[in-house]
Amino acid sequence: MKKSEELKKKLSYRRKFLWQDFKEETAQAFDFCEPYKTFLDTCKTERECIRYITEELKTRGFAPIDDNAASKKCYRISHNKNAAFAIIGNQPISAGVNLIVSHIDSPRVDMKQNPLYEDKTTKLAMMRTHYYGGIKKYQWFSTPLAIHGTFVKTNGEIISMSIGEDDTDPVFVMPDLLPHLSGKVQRTKTFSEALNAAQMNVVFASTPFLEDEEEDVSEAVKLNALSLLYDKYNIVEEDFLSAELELVPAGKARDAGLDRSMVLGYGQDDRVCAFASSQAIFDINENLQRTAVVYLADKEEIGSEGNTGAKSIFIIDFISDLLKANGESGDSATLRKTLINSQILSADVNAGINPNFPDVHEAENAVHLGCGVSVTKYTGSGGKSGSNDANAEFNAHIIKTFNEGGVNWQTGALGKVDEGGGGTIAKFMAEHGAEVIDCGPGLLGMHALYELASKADIYSTYKAYKTFFQNA
Ligand code: MN
Ligand code: MN
Repeated sequence: MKKSEELKKKLSYRRKFLWQDFKEETAQAFDFCEPYKTFLDTCKTERECIRYITEELKTRGFAPIDDNAASKKCYRISHNKNAAFAIIGNQPISAGVNLIVSHIDSPRVDMKQNPLYEDKTTKLAMMRTHYYGGIKKYQWFSTPLAIHGTFVKTNGEIISMSIGEDDTDPVFVMPDLLPHLSGKVQRTKTFSEALNAAQMNVVFASTPFLEDEEEDVSEAVKLNALSLLYDKYNIVEEDFLSAELELVPAGKARDAGLDRSMVLGYGQDDRVCAFASSQAIFDINENLQRTAVVYLADKEEIGSEGNTGAKSIFIIDFISDLLKANGESGDSATLRKTLINSQILSADVNAGINPNFPDVHEAENAVHLGCGVSVTKYTGSGGKSGSNDANAEFNAHIIKTFNEGGVNWQTGALGKVDEGGGGTIAKFMAEHGAEVIDCGPGLLGMHALYELASKADIYSTYKAYKTFFQNA
C-alpha cells in the first residue's frame, strides 16, 4: 500500500458499504427480514402492533408489572395503543436505564366520525376521510386500500374490523380523475392544490337495498351498506361516531430488487425500529448490567400528543413502577435522578439518499442505503429548530459501543440545511434529562404508501439495539 493510501485509511472517515463485507451476515440479514415482513403485514395500525407484542411478551415470559412486582421481565400496555417492557439489570434502576423508544403509528387516512353518505348524482355509497400525519395526498388515490378499525359499543363491547387484507377480501379506492379531464382542475394547479382533502372520499358500496313491495327508497345504496354492516358486525350508523377506522394500503410487504436485498412495505416508519428493538430485547443475554426498556409509542406522526403519545406521563410512570417493584423509592427525586442517569435511543427512520432526487441531500452527511444503521446527532429544521442535538460525549459513547460490538453504523442528517426537515421523539425524552440520540435505518420514499429499506440496514439496526442494551 502506498504511504498516502495508508495515511488516508488511518485518518479519513469513510462509510462502509455493507454488502461488500457481509459474508455470513448476508444470510442473517435476509433471515431476519422474514418475520419482519410478517410483522409489517400483521401490524398495520398501532392497535394491531400492541395486540401482536402482547402475545409475544406473554409467550416470552414477561409478566404485567402490576401482577407480579418481582418479575425480572415485565411489561405494561396502555390504552391498547402503547407499551413498555423491561428486563431488569444487576445495577439498581436508579443508576439509569437503557431505553429504546420507537413509534408504532404511521401516516394513514382515517374515516371521519360521520363518514358514510350516498352521493346524489352517482348513487355511490362513499366514506368521508381525514388524513393522519404527513402524507402526499395524490399517493392515496387509485390504489387499493384496506379498512382496519375498532368500534366500541356503548355497552363496552369492542368490535374489530379488518377488510381488504385477505386475498379474497374486497378493497376500497379513492378514484383519481382521468388525465383527459384533469387539464383545468389539476394540471394547471400547484402540487399541493391539485388534490384537496375534501376529494379524499372512498367508494364504499354501489348496490341498493331492494324490497319487492317498496319503490323509491331514498338513499337505498347507503341503506344497503348499513344493512350489510349490521348483519356482519352488528353495528349501526351511530357506532361510527365513536369508532376508530383507519385506511391503509392493502396487501403485503414484499422483497424488493432482483437480488431481494430490500424490503418494500407500508409503515416501515417506524415499525422497522419497533420490530428491531422488540426483537433485540427478546434476544439479549438476560444477565444485564443496566435495565433494558423498550417503549413503543403512538401519535408520533401528529406530534407525540395525547395520552398514548411520547409526551404523556406513561413511560415516566412505568419507570417509577420499575423502581418500586425493585425495592427502590419511586418518589419524585429518585425518579428524576433515574431519568437523568438514563441513556435513550430515539429509534426512528431517517431519509436515505434517493437517486431520483439527490439534490435535497448533502451526500457526505446523508444516510446511504446499505451502509448500516444511522446515528443522527440532530434533526429539526431551519437551524436545528425543534431538535434534540445530542451531546458529543454521548454520541461518542454510542459510537464506541457500536464499534466494539461490531455494529455497522453511519452518520446521518435529514436533508440539506434549510431544505426542509422534521423531528422525532428524541426531544421529548431529553426533556427528562436523559442522554438521547436518534438511531435508525434510512428509508427511500418515507411516508409513501410503500417505503423501501435495505435488509443490511434493517439487520444492522437490530444489531445496534442489541449491543446498546448489552454494552452501553
Ligand atoms: Mn418516524
Ligand atoms: Mn414519520
